[in-house]
Amino acid sequence: MSEQDNLYAMRHSLAHIMAGAITRLYSGVKLGVGPVVENGFYYDIDLGPEVKLSEDDFGRIEEEMQKIIAEDYVFEQSMKSVDEAMVWAHEAGQPYKMELLNDLKREGTTIAKDLDTTMMGLPAGISGTTAPQPITEVSFYTDGDFTDLCRGPHVESTGKVGAFKLMRVAGAYWRGKDTNPQMQRVYGVAFATPKELRQYLDMLEEARKRDHRKLGAELDLFVFSDLVGAGLPLWTPRGTVLKNQLDAFVQSLRDEAGFEQVSIPHLTKKDLYERSGHWSKFKDELFRMTTREGHEFAMKPMNCPHHTQIYAAQPRSYRDLPIRYRDTTMVYRDEQSGELGGLSRVRGITQDDAHVFARVSQIDDEARVLWRVIETFYNSCGFEQLRLRLSTHDPENMAGYAGGAEKWESTVGQLRAVIEEKVGDDYFTGVGEAAFYGPKIDFMARDAIGREHQLATIQLDFNQPEGFDLTCTNEAGEPERIVMLHCAVMGSHERFLSVYIEHTAGKFPVWCAPEQVRLLSVNQEPSTLQFVSELQARGRALGLRITTDNSNESVGKKIRSAEMWKVPYTLVIGEKEISGSGLAPRIRSDLATSGEPKNLAVEDFLQSVAAEARSRASQSTL
Ligand SMILES: [Zn+2]
Ligand SMILES: [Zn+2]
Repeated sequence: MSEQDNLYAMRHSLAHIMAGAITRLYSGVKLGVGPVVENGFYYDIDLGPEVKLSEDDFGRIEEEMQKIIAEDYVFEQSMKSVDEAMVWAHEAGQPYKMELLNDLKREGTTIAKDLDTTMMGLPAGISGTTAPQPITEVSFYTDGDFTDLCRGPHVESTGKVGAFKLMRVAGAYWRGKDTNPQMQRVYGVAFATPKELRQYLDMLEEARKRDHRKLGAELDLFVFSDLVGAGLPLWTPRGTVLKNQLDAFVQSLRDEAGFEQVSIPHLTKKDLYERSGHWSKFKDELFRMTTREGHEFAMKPMNCPHHTQIYAAQPRSYRDLPIRYRDTTMVYRDEQSGELGGLSRVRGITQDDAHVFARVSQIDDEARVLWRVIETFYNSCGFEQLRLRLSTHDPENMAGYAGGAEKWESTVGQLRAVIEEKVGDDYFTGVGEAAFYGPKIDFMARDAIGREHQLATIQLDFNQPEGFDLTCTNEAGEPERIVMLHCAVMGSHERFLSVYIEHTAGKFPVWCAPEQVRLLSVNQEPSTLQFVSELQARGRALGLRITTDNSNESVGKKIRSAEMWKVPYTLVIGEKEISGSGLAPRIRSDLATSGEPKNLAVEDFLQSVAAEARSRASQSTL
């Protein structure tokens, strides 16, 4: 068994052990399903309306689980006919298992679409919705006094499950339907060794400290208002500086690559989206409205259809191509309230969007250009390694994709060639991960605490040019169908910032820090305040974001406050500084390259910080 398979078996076995422990501790326990999830497992359990589990109960449950582990029961498989299994479910008082078995019996060869076949005790190899032959038998596993409907695989015995910890309990409707009974979903995490478990828990603790929602409030970057609504972040002056600096960097890289800025309204007539396919594809996510004249409009969920109309507004020659538009603008998607969380999932999304209108023969070059922009941006933001995914259609299930299979094969092949030329076989393929209009290259960035996030994409689109009849006149004077490339570098400002804030723990480099330098006056003497104000004016003249703290607090307290705000450079201004003997900047520890603070002339200090900001240095040059 591979390490990965073994870990899966451990986590899966722990779900049984937990269900067994809870069954020992409480009466009338009714079990739903208990699958393996990322880093662990859960089990949906119904303890009746009276018993509400909380984290306070975890100690007792974990203790009982440890007993079952120490007792080292072998996981023994037994087969039952579906009818025998139903007798078991009845006698064991397990109505949810009964429901699953009933479904199985009634539907014959059809498996419940919402459930993992493992949970139904069905043979391995049945993964779709239709079994190859009628199902006659289901599988059970017994460890000690606990038996469950299950396909396996498990570890050999309960003593071989590695290290685990119960994490949380949450409400969950049976089979995800809100008309069904509410169950309690108990989550645990599990790893092969106590050391790996410890590392994971430490990472979670670090993630909690860095949570962008927490830092967003502490560093005054963005807010939400109940009056405005969920999923609609409002950016404060500080947050706006940060966001705009990052965007300006992306746009400067794009401009070097020949992009031109365009801008578009946030609304459109229904007609545009009917033509693009978004009206039917995204109908539930569209914010729609009807005008007083009875016309249907929608807030744009994407920018490409608008951009096609700029391209299509005049005849284009092959000599004009590629035409590259960039546009940082908002799109709106009616995400479900339950899905919204901080900046990770929002309803008003700021995209640093771009579209290239190109000939088929230009795809490779254009993809390479976009790739370079992405790489430069992410490396400058401290994401050194980008993992690549080629997201393709699913040849087995073409229902969700526009255009024919042949077209898909050839465009996937074209993107694959671009990737392989650049990184060899150092990428993976995501079958069924493509956009509905074409394949894409996804860039996954690993953050400072080891989590991976999908951020930038380069998408190839042969469907919208088809739908909007976009052509150029070729060398022979005939209309030639073009292709589009979509490329958001940050993806969306909101999602990128949710990752970047946590990646940096709010310690932004000088170039994008909302506040680059803070001046702390040691007293309120007019001469001190005047010096501070002159220094601030000189810094501002160089384009620096330089603030002052002239409050009545002690210098120690002011220094601590600047540290809390994670300001890159802090200058204490007192007698010595005013007398002209230079400045001794305090440098935020992650930026400092040498231990000893230097004494610098005022102008040298200001010029150096301004140069760092211009060059987007990640470290202090002082
Ligand atoms: Zn099992
Ligand atoms: Zn697009």
